[in-house]
Amino acid sequence: MQMDDQAVESRRSAENIQVKTNMKRRTTIIVTIALSMIITLVVVAGHAPTGYVQNDWTEPFPAFGIAGNLYYVGSRGLASYLITTPEGHILINSDLEANVPMIRRSVESLGFKFSDIKILLISHAHYDHCAGSAAIKQLTGAKYMVMEGDVDVVESGGKSDFQYGNDPTQLYPATKVDRVLHDGDKVKLGDATLTARLTPGHTKGCTTWTMRVVDVLGLRDVVIVGSPNVNPGYKLVGNTVYPRITEDFEKTFRVLKSLPVDYFLGAHGSYFDLEAKYPRFILGETAFFDPKGYKNFVEDREQAFRMELTKQKGAVKVAD
Ligand SMILES: [Zn+2]
Repeated sequence: MQMDDQAVESRRSAENIQVKTNMKRRTTIIVTIALSMIITLVVVAGHAPTGYVQNDWTEPFPAFGIAGNLYYVGSRGLASYLITTPEGHILINSDLEANVPMIRRSVESLGFKFSDIKILLISHAHYDHCAGSAAIKQLTGAKYMVMEGDVDVVESGGKSDFQYGNDPTQLYPATKVDRVLHDGDKVKLGDATLTARLTPGHTKGCTTWTMRVVDVLGLRDVVIVGSPNVNPGYKLVGNTVYPRITEDFEKTFRVLKSLPVDYFLGAHGSYFDLEAKYPRFILGETAFFDPKGYKNFVEDREQAFRMELTKQKGAVKVAD
């Protein structure tokens, strides 16, 4: 009996020790998790460039050849393109500062050198497409070529933006422009030629890039849409800081509807349905060859613009 009691007692104390050890272990795990969460938050906050960052903006996406010498090197939510030539490469969109190492890895995963990027272009002067430009210029020595209208914005780090200039969360490192582009200007490197089409409204110098690529079927037209979107809060009527905004959006839709298009691309993957098209592309479909998708997208965006314009004009009349 005594033996039994002793046995029970010793088992109990062994269990107590075990429970205490487990509790200690659990506390250590909880503390470790909490610490790592705090560290992650600090790191993310330190790197977060500015402003609102959508989850998929910094989510990696496989780099792939779209057609000819044109490659996708962006993230899931922010599109970047590499145009390769024997004389070096052109990169469209530097994205957020946090995206720069990802773009670099994408370029290298395709077998190209990041340091061979000679020219850096952007879709438009908003931080999600141009905040990483200063870093990329520094890393590669690339010449930064930006459309007139967006030049003072990128050179002020976003401070002279008509909509977001006073919002410190939308600012980014000021970046010197090496060549000012005008509507219709050509950017040439090696055997590649890109045309800068001014499609303003979303920003004053918003640029739609066009080029031709050779695919298995021959010479094809590529359009990389800058942005046709009227952002929330954009004032289309009586905008004193951007009086031409409505005429500019009108011009954008005229231009977009006039372009010959085979390959439909844009500043965000969501414009051309990157996520739905990529798996089909991997299976061998020419998914990015999509003139119809382009036409639908432009029609849809123009309708959204016209509805917003009508709404704002109505609101002004009511106010009168
Ligand atoms: Zn934008």
